[in-house]
Amino acid sequence: AKDQGKGRYEVFATGMHTQIFKRFQLEIDLRRAIEKEELYLQYQPIVSLETDKIIGFEALVRWQHPVHGFVSPAEFIPVAEETGLIIPLGKWILLSACDQLSIWQAQFPLDPPLMMSINISGHQLSHPDLVEYIEKILHQKSIDGENLKLEITETVAMNDVEAAISILLKLRTLNLRLSIDDFGTGYSSLSYLHRFPVNTLKIDRAFVSRMEDTNEDAAIVETVIMLSHALGMDVVAEGVETAEQKAKLKKLGCEYGQGYFFSKPLDSESATVLLKQQFEN
Ligand code: C2E
Ligand code: CA
Ligand code: CA
Ligand code: CA
Repeated sequence: AKDQGKGRYEVFATGMHTQIFKRFQLEIDLRRAIEKEELYLQYQPIVSLETDKIIGFEALVRWQHPVHGFVSPAEFIPVAEETGLIIPLGKWILLSACDQLSIWQAQFPLDPPLMMSINISGHQLSHPDLVEYIEKILHQKSIDGENLKLEITETVAMNDVEAAISILLKLRTLNLRLSIDDFGTGYSSLSYLHRFPVNTLKIDRAFVSRMEDTNEDAAIVETVIMLSHALGMDVVAEGVETAEQKAKLKKLGCEYGQGYFFSKPLDSESATVLLKQQFEN
């Protein structure tokens, strides 16, 4: 690892790219962030369009950098992927989100129980320890696999279809729920979709946000919902921002929604307040 670091430093020393330096610095900072606990999770409600109740949350990682302030996961997750840091980071995310889920399940015994959705990156998915690690956490936190949902992006799933299916089948032995994330943004291979052992399809925000502007996007959303149902999957629409979008999605038979219309991602304290309100009503 030291040699690798030296090599990278030399690239910088030749003064070639500030880009490379930025990435390198980001990697150093991220390493420290993992150790120093500058990272935390926020939770965004996933709501039943039928009942308007929160059925679960998606865990989203946050980084408060001591100098640069908030760094977006869209920026640092790719770096964590490339450098392998995603493995320790991903374990920390899984552990923290499951810890929060077990607290909420004890505090709010809903029927069906509250779910937690966690994003799993490509590197994490192909790591040989993943299944074992999740099994350990489920046991440690007394969580039923059914209440944990892993989100895998369409791009990762389609990158190596056979490998992805084989890992997803292993994860299914833990009774986990699986979901294809950002559906519609990648290279959508409809001919493979039915072979993925997944429960849920998440329609990407891009389609939801344009749904009211163009008939084409509305048609795509409608088609994705019908296709999911035909394959026995349910649907979560991401990026729901308006009452009109919500109403339209509900009419089209979409089961769940997530987005600013319902709530932004929240710290655990604020999410607890929301759950309390719902639980007491
Ligand atoms: P994603 O999985 O598609 O997550 C949804 C993103 O949409 C989140 O951005 C969320 O804050 C944002 N969002 C939710 N509702 C709305 C809305 O109504 N309008 C708009 N404009 N945006 C909305 P965020 O948190 O910045 O995350 C960006 C991406 O970073 C995520 O996209 C995911 O791919 C990745 N990411 C975030 N947390 C994790 C993590 O813990 N692990 C991994 N592997 N990736 C993560
Ligand atoms: Ca996601
Ligand atoms: Ca998504
Ligand atoms: Ca998305």
